[in-house]
Amino acid sequence: MTIFSTFEVPARKGRLITLNRGDEVAVVNTHGGQVVDTWAFPLDEPTEYMSMEHSRVAHYRLTFQPGDTLYTDRWRPILHFVADTSPGIHDTLCPACSEMSYRKFYGCDHRHDNCTDNLREEFARIGRPLGRIPTPWNLFMETVVEQDNLLKDYPSSAAAGDLVRLRAEMDCLFAVSACPQDILVINGAGIAPRGVALRVHRAATVPLQQNQRKSES
Ligand SMILES: [Zn+2]
Repeated sequence: MTIFSTFEVPARKGRLITLNRGDEVAVVNTHGGQVVDTWAFPLDEPTEYMSMEHSRVAHYRLTFQPGDTLYTDRWRPILHFVADTSPGIHDTLCPACSEMSYRKFYGCDHRHDNCTDNLREEFARIGRPLGRIPTPWNLFMETVVEQDNLLKDYPSSAAAGDLVRLRAEMDCLFAVSACPQDILVINGAGIAPRGVALRVHRAATVPLQQNQRKSES
């Protein structure tokens, strides 16, 4: 028996869930145009993390495509990229936005919602320490390399309902942040951050014994 559950991620917020090996999660771009910072951490090793640097080298490509496996910084497979209904551009280069980045690049003189704090808050919610913030896999984010190796941001072209489907290759913590960037155009032409959803398909099966009564002697 398969089990589905859906976790809504409000605009500008984060969400952390636990995946068991074999579980699949679909990151759904509910309204379209929304960038989703994505991380994964092995459940058994708090200092290890899904690494964009290692995963790029594993495939010797700047971006990933269905069929690719993503690795931790200790070269353990952690996620498998199963399917993608979006235009397929998912940045692997940009760090998560932070209070400091909004001050440095956009002159914000107040705290701006950001993906770094969203991840920290989700770890605090489950009472687990979090050290450095790994570079996220920025799903649906269209920062591309152009001529002369210059980077350019384009509005996400993900349509409403587009999704990326991933499979856990080990028991792990899986975290996302619906990026609250409302200054650059990355979150679509309207630059309005929107919510997304996680749809989880559990690989676990219900043991037959659970439904069987013991015979009395
Ligand atoms: Zn962000």
